[in-house]
Amino acid sequence: MPLAEKSLIRRIRSRAGNTRGIIGIGDDCACVRIPPGHEALITTDFSLEDIHFRRKWQPAASVGHRCLLRGLSDIAAMGGTPLAVFLSLALPAKLPRRWVDEFLGGLLKLASEFAIPLAGGDTSKSPGKILADIVVLGSVPKGKAVLRSGARTGDRIFVTGTLGSASTTLAALLRGNKKKIPASDLNRYFYPSPRVEIGSVLREKGPATSMIDVSDGLSTDLSHICDESKVGAELIAEAIPRRNTDLRLALHGGEDYELLFTAPAKATVPRRIANIPITEIGRIVRSRKISLRIGSKLQKLAPEGWEHFRK
Ligand code: ADP
Ligand code: MG
Repeated sequence: MPLAEKSLIRRIRSRAGNTRGIIGIGDDCACVRIPPGHEALITTDFSLEDIHFRRKWQPAASVGHRCLLRGLSDIAAMGGTPLAVFLSLALPAKLPRRWVDEFLGGLLKLASEFAIPLAGGDTSKSPGKILADIVVLGSVPKGKAVLRSGARTGDRIFVTGTLGSASTTLAALLRGNKKKIPASDLNRYFYPSPRVEIGSVLREKGPATSMIDVSDGLSTDLSHICDESKVGAELIAEAIPRRNTDLRLALHGGEDYELLFTAPAKATVPRRIANIPITEIGRIVRSRKISLRIGSKLQKLAPEGWEHFRK
C-alpha cells in the first residue's frame, strides 16, 4: 500500500483509540463478541459526495456524524444495540487533511456517545468525489428483532419526535439561505440523534409489532411497512407531529431519522420515551391502500419520499 494510505490508517487508528477488548484496527478482520443469546444485526450505508452530502455548506464533522447516524438509525429500527462500526473511505488526492480530521471527529464523537469502537475499514484514493461507506454491527436477543413485516390489521401507527424539519432546513440550505436558518434547526439537521434507546425500549416492552426508521419520508417508509406486512394504512393529517413545517414536507420529506412503528390496538404505548414524544398518527387497515384523512375527507396517499432512480 502507498505510504499516504498507511499513514492515514495509522492516524485513524490512533484517533479511534480504545476498542474495549475487541480486536479491531490492525488485523485482517475485527473480532467482535456477540452477547450470549443474541444474534448479529448488520447494516451498510454509503454516503456519496453531492448525493448524500455537500462539502460546500455542510461541516465535515456533520458529514461524519450523519454517515454513522444512518447506520445507528437502522439498528434502532430493529430494536437492537450497536456493537461496532466499520468505515471504508475513498478520498480524492486533493482533499485537505483538515476535512478528513473533522469528518473523523464527527463520526468518532457519535460513536463514543454509543460506546462503540471504530473497529476497521478500508481506505483508497478516489478518482472523483468522496465516498464514505459505513457498516454498523449490532445485536438483538435471538428472534426478537422488530421487523417491517409484523403490522396487523387494527394496529395503531406511531411516530417519535416531529417530521419534516430536516427537509425544511435542507430546502433552505439549497436556496442558499444558511444565515436565515435558526441555529437550533441547523444543528438538528447537521447532528440528528439516532433513536437507539427508544427502539430498544419498544422491543423490550413489547408493544412494537413492526418498525422502520423514517429516512426517506413518512409516505415512503410507511409504504415499506405496508408492503412487507401486506396491509394498508390510514393516516390522520392533523395528528402528524410537525413544527413550522408544511404538511407536504412532514408527509414526504426525508432524513428525519425518527422511528415509525405499529402497536396492537389494546397495547399501552408510553407518551414519551427517553424524553421524546410518541404520537399516534393513524391505523393499519386490511385493504392494501394507504390513505390520508384530512378533516372528513379521505384521499389516496402516494409514496412521494426520496427515491434514487426516480426521474
Ligand atoms: P487489508 O489489506 O487487510 O485490507 P488494510 O491495510 O486495508 O488491510 O487495513 C489495515 C487495517 O486498518 C485493517 O485492520 C483495517 O480494518 C483498518 N482500516 C483500514 N482503513 C480503515 C478506515 N478507513 N477506518 C478504520 N479502519 C481502517
Ligand atoms: Mg484494505
